[in-house]
Amino acid sequence: MRSIIKAAEWMLGAEAAEGAPQGIYSAVCMTCGAEAQPTDNEPLPVEVWALKHTGLNPTHRQFKSMVETYWRVTPAEGNPYRESDVQDA
Ligand SMILES: [Zn+2]
Repeated sequence: MRSIIKAAEWMLGAEAAEGAPQGIYSAVCMTCGAEAQPTDNEPLPVEVWALKHTGLNPTHRQFKSMVETYWRVTPAEGNPYRESDVQDA
């Protein structure tokens, strides 16, 4: 996604910095509010948690699942901040 704000062009994309997760997965039981341990980049442990939670509490069958992702806005070609970003790197 590109946008021009105050005559400078910016681009929105996924944060790709080293160590930044592609996604943080988590879930909350809609019956009792119990929360899964969030995991980076890997939904399976949260899915297993939900299945086990229902196994232990057979009436708890609805969950809110969440995936948190991160964005970074960077200067596009021709944006004066692009030069200073390159110098800082
Ligand atoms: Zn529950």
